[in-house]
Amino acid sequence: MLFFISGTLIASFMFVVSCSEKLNFRLLSRRSRCDHCLKSLSWLELIPIISFLALRGKCRNCKTKIASGCLFVEIILGISFTLPLFFTLEAEYYTHYFLIVSFLIPLSIIDYEQLIVPNHMLVLLSICSVILFPIYSSYFWLKLIIIFLILKVYPYFSKFIGFGDVKLFMILFLIFPANIFLIIFLSTFIIGGLAAIIFEFILKDKNTVYPLVPFITTAFIIVMINLKELKIIFGGLL
Ligand SMILES: [Zn+2]
Repeated sequence: MLFFISGTLIASFMFVVSCSEKLNFRLLSRRSRCDHCLKSLSWLELIPIISFLALRGKCRNCKTKIASGCLFVEIILGISFTLPLFFTLEAEYYTHYFLIVSFLIPLSIIDYEQLIVPNHMLVLLSICSVILFPIYSSYFWLKLIIIFLILKVYPYFSKFIGFGDVKLFMILFLIFPANIFLIIFLSTFIIGGLAAIIFEFILKDKNTVYPLVPFITTAFIIVMINLKELKIIFGGLL
């Protein structure tokens, strides 16, 4: 329960940060407020999920609708935070898991709603990763060269994958050992491919642009909570 609550609290904060236009450090200090009437929220209105449901998704002062994405982020991140209780996460990837899902879930909802990956969130994720993880240790320079080459060829693939997604993949590539990254990367396209088949053939939805971040997130969570099993399946490769 404690994990769920901390997940929802982080979610409501991360959602506000990701919805703002750019990195705004005043968000850290000032009280949250309604985007429409700018009235500061009372502590009751700051309670994740419950306040949203109690107020039926509207601001108490001006009755403007609050983005429902906020509610989804709170619920999904709350659940994601409890997953390590039911599955065994590798001890060395605990921090990775909590930090990265806190970014990926708000980003998934925004990508789903607007098909964008806000740059300021990627910058923030990079800063946190540089501080928290030893990204310089394993093959850092080789990875930078690979990233440089990918950026060189990206224009030929821009039809298939958004640049925001590429940047997000690059950050994950720098954070994780190459083999773990590769599994996350491949799983993203396996899950995304299956979803695309379902959407196009079963639901007859001929939408050609899909948000990729929700699939990156799903792949990331699945790989993280099954890393032990994956290591057994792939033998010495991982
Ligand atoms: Zn308001």
